[in-house]
Amino acid sequence: MRILIFGAPGVGKGTQAKILSEKLQIPHISTGDVLRKAVSKGTELGKKAKEIMDKGELVPDDLMGKLVDEILHDDCCDTGFLLDGFPRTLHQANILDNVLERLDGGETLYVIYLQAEDEIILRRLSHRRQCKECGQIVNLDNITNENKCPNCGAENSFIKRKDDEEKIIKNRLKVFHETTEPVIEYYKDKAEIINIDGTNEIHLVTGNIMKELGKN
Ligand code: AMP
Repeated sequence: MRILIFGAPGVGKGTQAKILSEKLQIPHISTGDVLRKAVSKGTELGKKAKEIMDKGELVPDDLMGKLVDEILHDDCCDTGFLLDGFPRTLHQANILDNVLERLDGGETLYVIYLQAEDEIILRRLSHRRQCKECGQIVNLDNITNENKCPNCGAENSFIKRKDDEEKIIKNRLKVFHETTEPVIEYYKDKAEIINIDGTNEIHLVTGNIMKELGKN
């Protein structure tokens, strides 16, 4: 199964993608995660991407296209994939068309579009933290002890992503509305579009997606 998951930053794409990838047994490819790893390892790609990501801007299409082309040609994606965070521009959508045609043009592409108001997103992202010990992502609104990771029990281990500062979040939302939303239009005639309310509880969102994919 080939799935693209769309939505504004912080709408829950990563969370849903992880759950769906397990349920559907297809790899979850997050371009944001791949880039963050490259930044922390200090690779050439990471060096080019760091400053752009810190500002909430988009990494150039040619770099992203090359990256996704390499990943999708990997053996890992024979059974399909769940792509999270790509394509984010019309040019990236064209690049993906070419890659998919070379893989096997005929398979149905599903586009899941998770939606939420900007205000909700702003609140979610400014309260989002990641445990530096186990990698768990939490929202401070949803945990009882703000200083203890509910997954691994580590204390004072939460860090905030640099691009989760309010000014940067606002820029990421602007980039999403101006540049990425038109990409969803582009898929209207090319894919099965599934619109989902991203403001529900996590398990309800997952259930709604699975139902729309005909997988329950
Ligand atoms: P994300 O974790 O998906 O919110 O991505 C974090 C940041 O990585 C974005 O704000 C961009 O700077 C960069 N990024 C991730 N995916 C892409 C992409 N497809 N095109 C350009 N930049 C990207």
